[in-house]
Amino acid sequence: MTVVAPGAAIGILGGGQLGRMIAIAAAQLGYRTHIYAPEASGPAADVSPRWTQAAYEDVAALAAFAASVDVVTYEFENVDPQAIGVLAGAAIVRPGAQALRVAQDRLAEKRFVADLGGVTAPFAPVDDLDQLEEALERIGSRAILKTRRMGYDGKGQARLAEPGDAVGAWNAIQRQPAILEGFVTFAEEFSVILVRGADGAVRFWDSAANIHVDGILATSTAPAGPLIQGQLAEARVLAQKVADALDYVGVLACEFFASPDGPVFNEMAPRVHNSGHWTIEGAVTSQFENHVRAICGLPLGDTALAARRVEMRNLIGDQAGEWSAILSDPANHLHLYGKHDARAGRKMGHVTRLTL
Ligand code: AMP
Repeated sequence: MTVVAPGAAIGILGGGQLGRMIAIAAAQLGYRTHIYAPEASGPAADVSPRWTQAAYEDVAALAAFAASVDVVTYEFENVDPQAIGVLAGAAIVRPGAQALRVAQDRLAEKRFVADLGGVTAPFAPVDDLDQLEEALERIGSRAILKTRRMGYDGKGQARLAEPGDAVGAWNAIQRQPAILEGFVTFAEEFSVILVRGADGAVRFWDSAANIHVDGILATSTAPAGPLIQGQLAEARVLAQKVADALDYVGVLACEFFASPDGPVFNEMAPRVHNSGHWTIEGAVTSQFENHVRAICGLPLGDTALAARRVEMRNLIGDQAGEWSAILSDPANHLHLYGKHDARAGRKMGHVTRLTL
């Protein structure tokens, strides 16, 4: 097993808040980070000594970047697998290209998980309006149409309630290759976040209950209540099957609906995840630190809860302006991502509150 020892350089594709928090964890362990992103700057720039601004399709820039680091990881899954192929020729890339290929296409992802025996919403590929109408007949008209690629935080999605909604929904997602999903009735949502080491060792964090507002994560609270606790064993078995099948190295997040019939897999993220931010203070080892440990081939840290109760709340748009009130409660830990423009719907920071 290749060990990338402290002192080495970690390359991160993407320079947002996830890259920022990976870079902070990497620095604590004595690594230097180098960000690669198409933007001139971003939240990770404040905490990372090197930054390459170049397109994800720029083969020469990618090769030079890979040659300048010892291991490459990413905070963002919509990187072209061909770009990952270029990187893999020059550096260790963790997680690998296969995880990206599956996770960046909702259809490939659902098929992959269904093949492993996981329960998903009923789904069908949709490439044109006729296919959408056929799919609605089979799945039922209470459904969600999602673009296969580039969807996040509820973007690229249209909800349907009756057959007459097909044309409007198809136009709303700009007639892109899509997947139709039957609407799942569920009481709660949760994620299974695991870390898999280069030697195949797997550890799970507690699963928080996640609440979404307008398709964006609002809060994650751990430990979750009895409904989620009762479905965790099954969800973890599936998440580990996914990780093992991909020979995955790093942190993997799988999102589930807690339905009356058991856990229903929704989607995966081949990276650290917003629903795991609470682990920075709320677990013995955070998702960011264990991601760094895993990709560098170091032993993994303990993932146990470090408090009786942990609540993470995202600060969206102008909520980041509440920093003074947040800090007046000593149980709160405030994280601001250094973004200048507090646009509506933009994740500006988060606050984690521990009950010891
Ligand atoms: P996603 O981008 O797939 O994570 O979807 C964002 C949110 O929309 C989820 O967290 C759910 O709250 C809701 N959602 C997505 N897919 C479904 C579904 N098939 N049935 C019911 N709700 C869904």
